[in-house]
Amino acid sequence: MAVNRKLRMGMVGGGPGAFIGDVHRKAVGLDGQIKLVAGAFDIDPKKSKKMGRELFLNPKRVYGTYKEMIKGELALPEDERIDFVTVTTPNNWHFPIARDFLEAGFHIMCEKPMTFDVKEAKALQKLVKKSRKVFGLMHNYTGYPMVKLARDMVKAGDIGKIRKIVVRYPQGWLATALERTGQQQASWRTDPKQSGAAGCIGDIGTHAENLAEYISGLKITHICADTTIFVKGRKLDDDGNCLLKFNNGAKGILHTSQISVGEENNLGIWIYGEKKSLEWYQEHPNYLYVKEADGPVQKWSRGNNYVAAKSKAAARATRLPSGHPEAFFEAFANNYYNFTETIRAKLNRKKPDKLALDFPNVDDGLRGMLFIETVVASAKSNQKWTKMKS
Ligand code: NAD
Repeated sequence: MAVNRKLRMGMVGGGPGAFIGDVHRKAVGLDGQIKLVAGAFDIDPKKSKKMGRELFLNPKRVYGTYKEMIKGELALPEDERIDFVTVTTPNNWHFPIARDFLEAGFHIMCEKPMTFDVKEAKALQKLVKKSRKVFGLMHNYTGYPMVKLARDMVKAGDIGKIRKIVVRYPQGWLATALERTGQQQASWRTDPKQSGAAGCIGDIGTHAENLAEYISGLKITHICADTTIFVKGRKLDDDGNCLLKFNNGAKGILHTSQISVGEENNLGIWIYGEKKSLEWYQEHPNYLYVKEADGPVQKWSRGNNYVAAKSKAAARATRLPSGHPEAFFEAFANNYYNFTETIRAKLNRKKPDKLALDFPNVDDGLRGMLFIETVVASAKSNQKWTKMKS
């Protein structure tokens, strides 16, 4: 029988006061494709229950731990249990949770960076391929229509061969020792046991790396990195500057920072081709700028017919007419839309539409972890230029 229904979602992480779990919950509501039915929301079982009450969930399906959640869901009839789980815990938990849910037969949406280290990322990649389950990774910036438009312009050859990519992601919120005040998000991000081998480079550098590879279709091959811990007593980098080499000979600069005072989420990217260049800003995501040598700058605006004519993926990722801004929540929802269509195709034993496969996956997650590993190795080495393994 065809599966024609909302998909049932479970969540791990996203307890009271958590940041990104709540964004996921709001984003999945946008398209009516998903219903949150279960969760193990917090490292503290009491807080998990509290979250469940606030969300009006069936108390029987609000669990104290993720292991109890797997057991509880497997005990339910198949037509009641969750289809997939979203992992929104700190980084150190991503692998064990994703592994255990995959092994129990569930699809996964996981936050970035995918795992704690490369070893776990490789193990997870193997597991995903073996399980034949759908694995999505929430690199939300690739969910923006104008990013998809940029990717499709590059693919169509509009800007010519890419020569240079500049990508930046500065923030300022960790310019002081915020972690020492007990602030939740700062505390685990600056702790190597929970965050991993890198701080800022892992937290937001991976978004910049993913965005550059997604739009350009290129792969980073070598990195020359300089990372710094500016805030005294901190154990992980809070600023990083990288030179990049790509697999077509293009060169790049990636800079990322959490001590750039006054910056909010100033992610931006410039792709320079032999014929034209592209420019996009996360804080003004509804526009893509196209530049050429002897002509005015073009400002492409989301929601217009000329965008849809150029990029089916951008059109599919657009809900509102031009001039009504779409942003962060919608980008998450776009990844979920494609992810759930892919799951539904699987449940119906059909091949998913090619456009539905346009969401970051386990291979992108491994790239992110290799990026972190390479930056950390390069920053430590005297030789500096370091090959990014595949
Ligand atoms: P947070 O500290 O705000 O929330 C983490 C939540 O996970 C808390 O409720 C905590 O109690 C819970 N938790 C921890 N261990 C758990 C466990 N074993 N079982 C159940 N719950 C557990 O952190 P955050 O800022 O929301 O970040 C969470 C993850 O999301 C991180 O991996 C981070 O890198 C990622 N993130 C991604 C984006 C993005 O733009 N895609 C933005 C922010 C955070």
